[in-house]
Amino acid sequence: MLPDEKNDQNNLTSPLQLEASQDISGAVDAGSACQKLTFWLQNLFPSNEVSILLVDPGSNRVGLFMRGGVLEEDLEATGQVLLDSVPEQVLSSGQVVLNSSVNAPSSSQVIVPLKCKEKVIGVVSLLSPAHRSGYEPFDIDLILSLASQAAASIETARLYKAEQEKLQVEEKLIQAERNLSAGLKPFELPAAILEQMAAVVPYERGSFLMREGHVLRIAAQRGFPKDERTQQLVIPLREGDVFFQIADSNRPVLIDDVTLAPGWTQVPWLAINHSWVGVPLFSKDRVVGMVSLTRREKGAFSQEDVLMATAFALQAAMALENAALYEEITRFNQQLEQMVQQRTEELNKALLALERMDKNKTDFINVAAHELRTPLTIMKGYLGMLQSNDTVKVTPLLVQALDGILKGTDRLHEIINSMLDVARIDNQVLNLKLEAVALPSIIKRVQSDFNTYLAERKQVLQLLDLDHLPLVQGDSLMLLKVFQNVIINAIKYTPDGGMITITGGRLQDEKIGDCVEISIQDTGIGIDPGQQEVIFEKFYSTGKVSLHSSGKSSFKGGGPGLGLAIARGIVLAHGGRIWVESVRYDEEACLGSCFHILLPLKSVIQ
Ligand code: ADP
Repeated sequence: MLPDEKNDQNNLTSPLQLEASQDISGAVDAGSACQKLTFWLQNLFPSNEVSILLVDPGSNRVGLFMRGGVLEEDLEATGQVLLDSVPEQVLSSGQVVLNSSVNAPSSSQVIVPLKCKEKVIGVVSLLSPAHRSGYEPFDIDLILSLASQAAASIETARLYKAEQEKLQVEEKLIQAERNLSAGLKPFELPAAILEQMAAVVPYERGSFLMREGHVLRIAAQRGFPKDERTQQLVIPLREGDVFFQIADSNRPVLIDDVTLAPGWTQVPWLAINHSWVGVPLFSKDRVVGMVSLTRREKGAFSQEDVLMATAFALQAAMALENAALYEEITRFNQQLEQMVQQRTEELNKALLALERMDKNKTDFINVAAHELRTPLTIMKGYLGMLQSNDTVKVTPLLVQALDGILKGTDRLHEIINSMLDVARIDNQVLNLKLEAVALPSIIKRVQSDFNTYLAERKQVLQLLDLDHLPLVQGDSLMLLKVFQNVIINAIKYTPDGGMITITGGRLQDEKIGDCVEISIQDTGIGIDPGQQEVIFEKFYSTGKVSLHSSGKSSFKGGGPGLGLAIARGIVLAHGGRIWVESVRYDEEACLGSCFHILLPLKSVIQ
């Protein structure tokens, strides 16, 4: 360097160095860092030829070569020559090398390492023109300082780029996962997996192979010839081949050149692609297949590619399992739905049949009751005539016989009327005649009607707290039937000498609202909890038919099983409720039953 230049340099060193340093540290990639370094070195050392060479970390190949700020394009061809020309100590130990008289006489060259945190990532060379003095120590310090600034920028840019690439790959993986979980059917997945895989690890030919016994069968492919051979491709498995290497180690296998791989068998009609990577496909910790990817060139897949493909295959396997599970659940649901539909149809049919049978029963009761009533009325008419006959009147035996026949026909009449009532309730043609009804007077009437039965059975019927009860709206004749049926049951199912207590009260019911409750408590045989609902069905009778007695009030003298069905039908038609409470059926202990009847004060009948 010339003395006057050196003076200038001395004056400018600090501010220029500062500006250069700041400028270089602002570089965003290796190329611009090298360009800036070249620019400032040429500025500080005019007429010097500046060359920069960067070495790829890991591979030790030339990653960039720049001469006078211009990038060398064909690194493949020149790379090794360049590397060989760099003095060994600059790259290995990071020491500066100073050469005098290189090429032209009296020119000098200085080769300075690009060093960041003790790691040499390249070199920068300055060649002074001929007839210039060499590089002073402070020149070298300056070059070293700018070179390390550039190295720092390059490293930061590299790290940033690596981080960006990682993020992009993660983003691709997430996107691929999303695409794969978008409700695809299991048979659609292999092709989708190969397609998504291409976005993460570029390849030329890829196949999705599933193991079936001793062969690998192709489930999907990309880049294969579109003909039958591809569709029917089956690869026989042989001891020690790549699939077993993958399956035994649960790890991927990378081959840089398949033509050099021992035991490699090539499908004859497929062009040789030198680079191969196979990644395992897992199902419940077992390798069930593999994804095979190939590229034409040798050594085309990097370790990162293998990692990416493996990570992707793991996700793909999960997607496959999820899809299979989803399909299984969907199939199961469909089966279940079918079964439910079938059962519902069966139940509907059964319900229809039952309804039809019930209707037939009601129709029969109706017809039978009407048919029986006519001859009965005729019989009763003739019996009345006989009763008033003078000859009969004076013959005690005939009087007694007629009396018996009349009682029988009355009972028959009652039963026929009950059958008609049930038919009316079933057909919902009760036609209530509503009025204000005093329940106590109805109950008292039943009491007086049943006095004879009570006396026969030595039972007491007591009425408590009834007089203060408010009026209800109802059909007094119908309500009379309700209490007749419930009270006659209390007499029938209570042993001789028992007690029947009827109480009443006003209350607010959740469903009915303001209402009167009448409770009929007996000291009879009781009813099992399991029977307490069914006794209100028509024709239901807990006792044996053989025990049925024709006597209306005799102990356990079962009737036709209509009384409670009629009582419930009438109470419901009034908008009320009827139920029974009893500890259990027990003829020894006679714990009794209590029938409750709720009737609304205001009419709720539509
Ligand atoms: P039934 O004509 O048989 O009396 P109901 O419909 O009046 O028909 O009664 C049905 C069945 O309910 C009766 O057979 C009887 O077993 C049972 N039951 C009704 N009231 C009582 C009661 N107070 N105590 C015990 N069992 C009763």
